[in-house]
Amino acid sequence: MNQFQYIQPAKQKAAIDALTKDAKAMFIAGGTNLLDLMKRGLAAPEKLVDINKLPLKKIEFNNNGLRIGALALNSEVAQDKLVREKQPLLVQALEAGASGQLRNMATMGGNILQRTRCPYFYDIALPCNKREPGSGCGALAGFNRMHAIFGFSDKCIAVHPSDMSVALAALDATVVVAGPQGERQILFTDLHRLPGDQPEKDTILERNELILAIDIPDKPFAQKVHYLKARDRASYAFALVSVAAALATDKNIITAARIAMGGVAHKPWRLFEAEKFLEGKPVSEANFRSAAELAMQGAKAFNHNAYKLKLAPNSIAAALKAAAGIA
Ligand SMILES: Cc1cc2nc3c(=O)[nH]c(=O)nc-3n(C[C@H](O)[C@H](O)[C@H](O)COP(=O)(O)OP(=O)(O)OC[C@H]3O[C@@H](n4cnc5c(N)ncnc54)[C@H](O)[C@@H]3O)c2cc1C
Repeated sequence: MNQFQYIQPAKQKAAIDALTKDAKAMFIAGGTNLLDLMKRGLAAPEKLVDINKLPLKKIEFNNNGLRIGALALNSEVAQDKLVREKQPLLVQALEAGASGQLRNMATMGGNILQRTRCPYFYDIALPCNKREPGSGCGALAGFNRMHAIFGFSDKCIAVHPSDMSVALAALDATVVVAGPQGERQILFTDLHRLPGDQPEKDTILERNELILAIDIPDKPFAQKVHYLKARDRASYAFALVSVAAALATDKNIITAARIAMGGVAHKPWRLFEAEKFLEGKPVSEANFRSAAELAMQGAKAFNHNAYKLKLAPNSIAAALKAAAGIA
C-alpha cells in the first residue's frame, strides 16, 4: 500500500477544499470499500480526507419526507424507528446487504458510492476498462456469471453492487451534494451512470463533491413494499438479481407502482415501462407477470449469465406479489 496523508476536517468547506486543491485526495467514511481498494492497489489516494467529524448523521422527518445524513450508519438507519415506520423498503434492502459487522461501519454515502464487485476490476493482473481505461473488458468473453443484462457497453458489463441504492431508486429519492459551487440535488435515478465509453466513471458526481444527505419523499407507495434479493448465500453475498417493489392500491386497483432492479446493470435499474403498465390495473398475478415480461424487453445475456433472463422476471413478479400481499 502507498503512503498517504490523513486529515480529519471538522468543517464541510475544509473537506471539499482539500479535494479541490489536491487531485489525489479522496473522502473516506466507514472505509469498508475504500480500504479494500487501497490494499488491492485499485485506489492510491495521496491524502485521505476522513469526513467522520462532519455533522452529517441526522435522520429527520418533515412534511415532505425523510432526510438521512450521509454519515448515518447502515445499521443505525435500518434500526431507526422513524425509518422503519416511514420507509420499510429501505430497511429491508439495508438488512439484505453485507453483514451485521459491515453495516455497523458502512455509511449511507459510502454505500451509494461503493465500487463494482466485478472480479476483473479487482484483479490487477486482468484487463478492465473501469480500473484502467483502454485495457479492455476481461468479463466480456470471460467468466461473466454476475454481470449485466441491461445497459452495458462493449467497454464494460459490470453491475452496481449496492442493495440500498436499488430501494432508493425505486422510492424517488434524491441525493443532496455540496461542491465548491454550493449545493445541488440529484434525482437518485440520475446519479449513477451507464458505462458507455467511460466505464471508469460510476456516477455524475465531480470528484470533489460531497454527499450530504438523502431525501426520500413521503409517497403513498411507501408502505406496500418488498425487497427480494436472489443470491448464492443467505448472508454476506451480493445480489445475483434483486428487486425493490412498492405499490399503492385503492380497492384492488394499482394507483402507483415503483420497481427497481439490482444486479442487472451498471446502475440501479428502474422499470419505468412496467410501472406505467401496472398503474390503473387490478392487483393480480397475471398483471405482475405481464409487467415482468415488459421489463425484460431489451435484456441480453452473456456466456454465463443467461440464468438471469429467467431469474429476473420471476423475481419481479414474486416481489410485486409480496408487496401486494398476495404471495
Ligand atoms: C465482504 C463484503 C460484503 C458486502 N456485501 C454487500 C451487500 O451484500 N450489499 C451491499 O449493498 N453492500 C455490500 N458490501 C459493501 C458495503 O455496503 C460498502 O463497503 C459500504 O456501504 C461502503 O460504505 P463506507 O462508509 O464504508 O464507504 P467508504 O469505503 O468509506 O467509501 C466508499 C466510497 O465512497 C466515497 N464516499 C464515502 N462517503 C462519501 C460522501 N459522503 N460523499 C462523497 N463521497 C463519499 C469514498 O471516497 C469512497 O470512494 C459488502 C462489503 C464487503 C466488504
